Amino acid sequence: MNLHKLILTNNACYKAGRTITPRGIMVHSTGANNPNLKRYVGPDDGLLGKSQYNNHWNQNTPDGRQVCVHGFIGRLADGSIASYQTLPWNMRGWHCGGSGNDTHISFEICEDGLTDAAYFNAVYKEAAELCAYLCKQYGLTEKDVICHSEGYKLGIASNHGDVMHWFPRFGKSMDTFRAEVGKLLAASAPTPVSTPAPSDFAVDDRVVLNGAVYADSYGGGKGRSFQNRTCTVTRIVDLKRKCPYLLDNGLGWVPKNSIRKA
Ligand SMILES: [Zn+2]
Repeated sequence: MNLHKLILTNNACYKAGRTITPRGIMVHSTGANNPNLKRYVGPDDGLLGKSQYNNHWNQNTPDGRQVCVHGFIGRLADGSIASYQTLPWNMRGWHCGGSGNDTHISFEICEDGLTDAAYFNAVYKEAAELCAYLCKQYGLTEKDVICHSEGYKLGIASNHGDVMHWFPRFGKSMDTFRAEVGKLLAASAPTPVSTPAPSDFAVDDRVVLNGAVYADSYGGGKGRSFQNRTCTVTRIVDLKRKCPYLLDNGLGWVPKNSIRKA
């Protein structure tokens, strides 16, 4: 992921300043043939390049519309792919014309002519990585990721087709996308710490004793000392006790550090 930040502070949505508790992510695509981030994100930060008509979304009502999303994915001036965060992730966006605005983080993938597989694969990968990043940040899973057209079917968004007019052209769908996000989440999940074996020894283990035996498992009643005596572990009690191992039924109790496997 190549994530940058340029908050659209001049947008009326930002100025409204409402916040949400993110419960999902809604993926959009722009519906216009212009893969350049500078069309939507500005002013130029040195990476974006300069917007030709200065019609980016960092203004009160871009193209006369009340719209704003939390991020964009598209091309930088040098042609590479990047993500831009354009609103605080927990700010209420104006992206889907429905109640999804109250619950979903949103981003637009800048569309090109919808025939370039290399561009598609690059932004698809970037989008999956952004979703995994946001899922981790807000305790969401891949199941919480939908696109605008799915939002419409769920009754929380206006009737738009994005992104399902595009993804299937390259053999992808929102299901493959969610699977990809899930894979990224699984790969980055902390590996479970291996639990230590409950005991280094088991009953019936043959061990070699070097040291004293005790009358009880708490270490009371120190008895004889042995050197290299081969014994059998016949009982094991609470390992927090000083001498949790009983040898040869009645020989005595010993601490872990006085025996080794025979
Ligand atoms: Zn949309």
